[in-house]
Amino acid sequence: MEASTNVFKYLSENFKAINKHIAEKRPEDKWIYDLNTKYYEDLYTAKDRGQPVIWMSAGTIPELFYAMDIFPVSPEGISSLLAGSREGLMKYLDYAQRYVPDHICGVNKGMIGAAMAGDLPLPDAIVHAAHPCDSGLASFDTIAEYLDVPHFCIDTPYTQNERSYKYMAGELKKVVSFLEEHTGRKLDEDRLREVVEYSNEALRYLAKINELRKNVPCPLSSLHLMVTGSLCVSMSGTPGLVEFYKKQYEIGKAAVEENRGPIPEEKIRLVSLFTPVLFDTGIFRWMEREFGAMVVKDGLSNFSANTIEDVSDTESIFLGLAERLTYTPMGHMANGPYEIYSDMVINICRDYKADAAIFAGNFACKHAWATIKLVKDNIQDELGIPIFIFDIDFVDPRMKSSDTIKAQLQDFITTLLG
Ligand code: SF4
Repeated sequence: MEASTNVFKYLSENFKAINKHIAEKRPEDKWIYDLNTKYYEDLYTAKDRGQPVIWMSAGTIPELFYAMDIFPVSPEGISSLLAGSREGLMKYLDYAQRYVPDHICGVNKGMIGAAMAGDLPLPDAIVHAAHPCDSGLASFDTIAEYLDVPHFCIDTPYTQNERSYKYMAGELKKVVSFLEEHTGRKLDEDRLREVVEYSNEALRYLAKINELRKNVPCPLSSLHLMVTGSLCVSMSGTPGLVEFYKKQYEIGKAAVEENRGPIPEEKIRLVSLFTPVLFDTGIFRWMEREFGAMVVKDGLSNFSANTIEDVSDTESIFLGLAERLTYTPMGHMANGPYEIYSDMVINICRDYKADAAIFAGNFACKHAWATIKLVKDNIQDELGIPIFIFDIDFVDPRMKSSDTIKAQLQDFITTLLG
């Protein structure tokens, strides 16, 4: 990627090229890439259409923005995608380190580096959340102040209960006022209802897809898992996401009915407790193909299935969105007492019939590293399954390369296979 690349344009063109290639080589998989292709084209052209763009942090949700006709983009998601691209994220990581310490999370450094290089178009406003981590909290505030972009931080409480949901619903109302002031868009309650109905429907399909993934063999590959997670972050509340999940559900259901999975023989079922290796998302597929080791579930695609049943009442919508925001991936892994994360992954390992689990610990995730030994002990006490813990920088192969990670995983898997 050359200097002064517009990353929205770059990703839009990249997805179009991938889509064309897949249409020629694997037309049956084209639907997996269609939605991202459209999303990035719409993002790139949003300003031309006169549509405001906002940055949202990991741990927020997009429904309110769609309801206000504002285009949401997660710059951390952009970093993740760039990390997995041919050029990688290194240029922006290095650029960011002229300004911020190297122990900031790579997805935040990628955002800062791209913005400071002038390659990440600045938004009309930034909405971020106090969870999941100190890295995100420090990065969004600082870049917004430095670049003079209006920003709002959703104060996410430490506790997770009815009282905290009410508090957070109040925070979301403040987000609406903030956006009305800085984008000129108004919240249309009928449009909000429509958006929430779309996200409800998408979450219902997602819950059904998750049920399918509990089958042995798992009917859908890890590719589906990762795309599922990244799309839900930015497209919850759109009809496109509903169609995407519906299609995935139908494919998974047919596979379950025929008792087949994406590989000839599923030998081991794994749960990835936190994030995948974002600079090489093909590693999970490699584990499937080489060893029959299926990643049946991961933390980053584990969205709450809470639907908002009463969409006639705006208060109930705000409360439901507040609860949904509490349980976003990374949010539910890092907010509040560690037992929330520990209990969650124990249930996942049990429900998805895991033979083992892996924790690819991003070095910057201090809270995750602080608790993983306790979590590991809890999983082993409850379920008695082995857990492999290793460190990575999930967006930078210079800390640990794909080959080294694969060698470590191979040792673990071949030990499991006996
Ligand atoms: S991976 Fe960890 S440190 Fe990075 S943004 Fe997510 S929660 Fe924060």
